[in-house]
Amino acid sequence: MTHNFNRLYKICIVGDGAVGKTTILHQYVDDKFVEDTKVTIGTNLFIKRITLPNKNVQITLQIWDLGGQERFFAVRPNFYAGAHGIIYTFDLTRRFSLMNLSKWKEEIERVIKQKPSILVGNKLDLVDGDMNRPILKDEGLETKEELCASCYIETSAKENIGIDKVFLRIAQEIFDSEVR
Ligand code: GDP
Ligand code: MG
Repeated sequence: MTHNFNRLYKICIVGDGAVGKTTILHQYVDDKFVEDTKVTIGTNLFIKRITLPNKNVQITLQIWDLGGQERFFAVRPNFYAGAHGIIYTFDLTRRFSLMNLSKWKEEIERVIKQKPSILVGNKLDLVDGDMNRPILKDEGLETKEELCASCYIETSAKENIGIDKVFLRIAQEIFDSEVR
């Protein structure tokens, strides 16, 4: 016997400005890379329907992106309310964007309790094969532990590397946390 489930998951993608959040979402949802994403005013909302592998589970992902409002402290608490999962994002070429993620986590957890989350290191195309990478993979893995995130994925929104995996994984984590 099969059961069909329909779920709506609200996911927030957070991280410093210019780490590539909006570009990741455009790549995932529209299958394209958008150069110079405009700094939009207000929250971007991206919708994508997926099916978890080997389970008859249909999930609608509703992914919220700050749309250039990363700097505006006052608007952010509303943004987190009701989130089922969090995607923490940093830029593999900018160490500060990695260090700041603990502040993002603190802020989120003042509004909602800890949620399933994953860590994404973006712009892999800029550092791949570089022996002197600014941020080593092990540092990403350490930060993942510090954030209590369930996995660390390196992506390139430009070259469409790892992007689908990010969303499949966060959906899976949320699903598993619900049925546990
Ligand atoms: P956001 O502020 O976090 O939403 O960042 P954006 O999505 O606006 O991206 C900031 C800049 O980084 C833009 O110029 C993007 O074209 C560029 N960018 C985003 N992702 C990648 C990537 O994977 N590789 C490279 N090389 N550039 C990227
Ligand atoms: Mg943006």
